[in-house]
Amino acid sequence: MKRAFTLNLSTCLVAVVIVSAGPHTLHAQGQPPPDHPAITIRGQTYTPRSILARNMGTPEDQSTAFPPHKIIGNIYYVGTRTLTSFLVTTPQGAILINSTYERNVPVIQKSVEQLGFKFSDIKIVLGNHAHGDHQEGDALVKQLTGAQVMAMAEDVPALEAIKPGGKAHPIDRILHDGDRVTLGGTTLVAHLTPGHTRGATTWTMKAQDAGKTYDVMFGCSLRAPEKLTPQNVDEFNRSFALVRALPCDVQLGDHAAQYNMQAKYAKLRSGGPNPFIDPDNCKLEAEISETMFRAILAEQGARQP
Ligand SMILES: [Zn+2]
Repeated sequence: MKRAFTLNLSTCLVAVVIVSAGPHTLHAQGQPPPDHPAITIRGQTYTPRSILARNMGTPEDQSTAFPPHKIIGNIYYVGTRTLTSFLVTTPQGAILINSTYERNVPVIQKSVEQLGFKFSDIKIVLGNHAHGDHQEGDALVKQLTGAQVMAMAEDVPALEAIKPGGKAHPIDRILHDGDRVTLGGTTLVAHLTPGHTRGATTWTMKAQDAGKTYDVMFGCSLRAPEKLTPQNVDEFNRSFALVRALPCDVQLGDHAAQYNMQAKYAKLRSGGPNPFIDPDNCKLEAEISETMFRAILAEQGARQP
């Protein structure tokens, strides 16, 4: 059980491998991150290890469909229990955000169809960041649908290194901070929020639901690596400030736990107001990530001679 867990962490540990060419390489060999520092936010305690475990769940969680559902407006959930995929539908076809692992593509396809949409209607594939657990399936989705794959310039080298079965990673349009992706009257804005990867991207759009307009934020991981470089520090500082400033009524994430999806879905099932409209918790994940980032930085500073 433990072995399976650590093996499946490898994709999200790529950043750690790259920056930890020192005494900390032990953790980079597929070991879970350390159990320190510990931080407490709103009564809940987190460590780097607990956050990663919460995000990834078990191998079964990573590849088992979560019941597909409408989130708000033209935005639907089509991902697994822990790895999110979102379908944004328009009269001119759909946008898929996060293909996740290649083995999950048939799982996502089934969820899209269960909602009454056609997988072949996907025209554009976007992602939150260039790690295999979020974007390994891009080539297969393109193969099955002919969709255009679009990616933030700073993530292109990392994406090109993701080649399941030797397939080249498709990239049809290179995006830059602030670029807009429009299809069938829906516009998504790409915000460069680096740190976790060089080109980690937070997407925002407006959704119309029951006569009202809502700001939706597809948040990306802001999880700091075990060892922070000066470049990482600059990137994270910029990203936390940017995310805090984004308008948000509905927060989503590249892992379901980042927006408490399972609890919100349970509320959705029991009726009442849409639980995904939750401006009070829109910045909670960024708060957890930033507090952890500062704690790691402090710990790292204390270790310096
Ligand atoms: Zn990641």
